[in-house]
Formats: sequence, structure tokens, C-alpha cells
Amino acid sequence: MEKSFDLIVLGAGSGGLAAAKRAASYGAKVAIVEGDRVGGTCVIRGCVPKKLLAYGSLYKDHIEAAPSFGVCFSNAHIDAGILLNNVRTEVDRLNALHISNLKKSGVELISGWGSFASAHCIDLAKEKGGPSIRQICGESILIAVGGRPSRPAIQGASLGWVSDEMFLQKSFPEKVVVVGGGYIACEFSSILTGLGISVTQLVRGPHLLRGFDHELSLSLENGMKEYGVDFLFETVPTLIQGSRGDISLSTNHAEEISCGGVLLATGRKPFLDNLRLDSVGIKLAGERIMIDNHQTTNVKNIFAVGDVTDRINLTPVAIDEGRAFADHLYGGKSRKVNYDLVASAVFSYPEIATVGLSEDKAKKLYGSENITVLKSCFRPMSKALSKKGSKCLLKLVLDKNSEEIIGCHMAGENAAEIIQMAAIPIGMKAKKSDFDNTMALHPSIAEEFVTMT
Ligand code: NDP
Repeated sequence: MEKSFDLIVLGAGSGGLAAAKRAASYGAKVAIVEGDRVGGTCVIRGCVPKKLLAYGSLYKDHIEAAPSFGVCFSNAHIDAGILLNNVRTEVDRLNALHISNLKKSGVELISGWGSFASAHCIDLAKEKGGPSIRQICGESILIAVGGRPSRPAIQGASLGWVSDEMFLQKSFPEKVVVVGGGYIACEFSSILTGLGISVTQLVRGPHLLRGFDHELSLSLENGMKEYGVDFLFETVPTLIQGSRGDISLSTNHAEEISCGGVLLATGRKPFLDNLRLDSVGIKLAGERIMIDNHQTTNVKNIFAVGDVTDRINLTPVAIDEGRAFADHLYGGKSRKVNYDLVASAVFSYPEIATVGLSEDKAKKLYGSENITVLKSCFRPMSKALSKKGSKCLLKLVLDKNSEEIIGCHMAGENAAEIIQMAAIPIGMKAKKSDFDNTMALHPSIAEEFVTMT
């Protein structure tokens, strides 16, 4: 058997692209196989188009506040169709850029859906699950096929959209039901509300964002309510009927909700369909591929990175895993990914961001008597004139003994930007006194992290 490649990467998303380019930079002969568009979830149907929609949706707030700043618009309105179209054009540009970057890196892009023929060879099909049209072989294979949204097992679920489909819409209906209380549900409820659409969000638990700091979750809930989102907690859909554009959704409380569309944001799963992992004996834990610290599966020449391993499903994590894999295998650098203190943000309204332990987790790990919680909640100056809009919450969780900051959480404008910077000193084991030693920058929101006592 001729192995024409050193490395075959399955999936040209964030993790696969990063691994392929890094491996090629060390001189490896690399092929990357992609059946869909190059760029993966983040670029094509996730982070990038979502954030562009979020930017567009924020104009609602600006338009409403404008008169208090003496700015008067007549007939200002938001056209979601124009926004969606412009977002797709930007996604097309990025898709082309990624293809050209692969070429420049010397990685061969192979269009098609890959499945395992053996531990070293991949069958390629035009359609997912279709007949093989070609086979390629390599010394090592990296599975970086990501995840896909999963629909709940209820009758009529196929009538709902999943997040991928949101970016394909020509426009949005006047009323949308969003199901879920996680990242995607909160982001889309906020985006749609900002675009002038009436949103009811069904959350199966008592609060948003299970696992996040509780006060942060409450702050988001209050902010989103003030923004106009109608929440139904401890509520799940039981039946979806009608046709797209004219839907009736029944809940576990026997309510009937009529709407133009339903977004099912109920989680994502590794995209293992038709990979034929069992034919090479790759071990799974549930639906995720099991790997060791160097991204190696139980089959020694087969590796996996990113959402298909279902650990921390964030783009920067997948990229770092891809690069660490290539550094280890081709660069002679035995580097492990650092999963401690991974900062994350929800691009909702208000935006929230977090790094480190929630207050509850810190109490469990350290004991209530061994932590200090500092917080500040206030209406930011940008809202002083309009007197509308949610309050900011800034919160620090400290280890009482070492005084180190072990959790840092924020809800409010630019939370993601602020927490990204806070994550650096916190990763360096900063104490609150280190923050205090920094002169506050006034007037800013982030100065509260310094001045709070
Ligand atoms: P999440 O896991 O964040 O949230 C899923 C939500 O759906 C939870 O509230 C869950 O409830 C609820 N749910 C699950 N099953 C059902 C059901 N059958 N009926 C009703 N509700 C249900 O998933 P997302 O899809 O929002 O996002 C997937 C992942 O993608 C995230 O975890 C994150 O890693 C990543 N992501 C990151 C973003 C960012 O960085 N800004 C943005 C978008 C996605 P419960 O809590 O009770 O389980």
C-alpha cells in the first residue's frame, strides 16, 4: 500500500485547518478532506456569521438611545434580509481566504466526504454516505470533523430550524420560539430581539446557562427580559405542528404557542455519521472520540481534535489542539494543551464573559469559608442619558488564603474584550492586590475590577 501523504486531515474547520497548516510548516505532506465548505462551523455557520448578526442587532439599542444624545433618525428601521445577505457575502470572502491560505501553506485540499477504508486509507465520496469514488492513504490520520446541532426527540422537530439554518434565511418571521437555555439559544434570542422580532425562549431548567456563575446567569436573564425576550422556564416543547412560517408549538404545560419559526438550540453532538470508525476499531465514549493528552485515539496512527472529542467545544481550543498535535508529531515539541482557565463569552444582550470558577464551584472546591466574593453592579455611563438598558455586573471570586483571583465574571458591554484581557493576569496567578496596584482607567467599566472592595 502506497501512503502518498504523511497526514490526512478529515475536516477543514478550525481544528483541522490549524493542524494541517502547522504540520505542513514542518515539511509534512498533508491532504485535508472536506465535503462541505472550507472554514467549518466557526467560519461558515457559527462564531463569525453569528457575531456579525449580533453586531447588526445591537443597532436597536443605539437607535433607541440616540434621541437622548440629540441624534434624531426619522424612519430608522432594521432590514434583517440585508444584514443576512451581507453576512453571507463576508462568509464567502473568508471561505475563499481559507482556501487560498491552504494553497499557500502547501496543503492539498480534497473535496469530498471521507470514511475509513482501513487505519491508513480513506474512501472519498461525493455525497455523505455515498459510494467511494477514490481512495487516499496516509501515514497518520487526524479526525477533525467537528459537531452538528442535534434536534430533540419530539414529534415535528424537523419543522424547527437548527442554528446552521439561521444563516441561510432570507429574512426572519415576526415571531420566533427559541428552545434551549445555552450559548446558542441566548445568543439567537438576543440577536432576533435586536432585529425587532418577538422572541419566546423555552428553557427546560429554572435558569439560563447551567454551569455558569449563578449571578451572571441571573444578570443575563434580567437584561434579556428588559430587552424584550419572553422566557418560559421549566418548559419544553412536546409537539411541533404546521409548516415552516406557520407553526404551532405545544409545551409540557399544555400551552400552545403560534409562531413563524422555531429554533431548536438544544445542544450539539460529534459528527460521526458515515466515518466508519468501527471498521478500524476507534473507541468512543458515548458519542465522542476518546483520545489521550496528545490527541491520539486507541489506534496509534489516528488522532482527533476539536468538537468531535466533545471536551471544551470552542474554536480557540480546537485550534490549539490542532497545533499541539502537529507540534508533537511533526515539530518535535511535546506540548500539551492547557485546559485551565479557558475564557468564554456568550454574545447575548447583555454580553457575558467568564474565566475561572463560578462562585458555586469555588465554594465546592475551596469551601465557603475560604473564598471571598467581590462584585459591582451598576448602570454604565453609556446608558446614563437614555436611562434604559441592562446593568453591568462585574464579579471576582478570590481564594481567601492566597488572595489569588480564581474566577472573574462580567455581564455588560464589551464583556468579552474585558475578560479576554483579565484572563492573562489571572492565568499568571494574579491577586486582587495586583489589580489594585494598577491605577484605574476612568471612566471605564473595567476600572471596577480595580476599585471594587
Ligand atoms: P448548550 O449545551 O450550551 O445548551 C443546550 C441547551 O439546550 C441547554 O440549555 C439544555 O438544557 C437544553 N436542552 C438540551 N436538550 C434539550 C431538550 N431535549 N429539550 C429542551 N432543552 C434541551 O448547547 P448549544 O447548542 O447552545 O451550544 C453548543 C456548544 O457550542 C456550547 O456548549 C459551546 O461549547 C459552543 N458554542 C460556543 C459559543 C461561544 O463561545 N460564544 C456560541 C455557540 C456555541 P440543560 O442545561 O438543562 O441541559
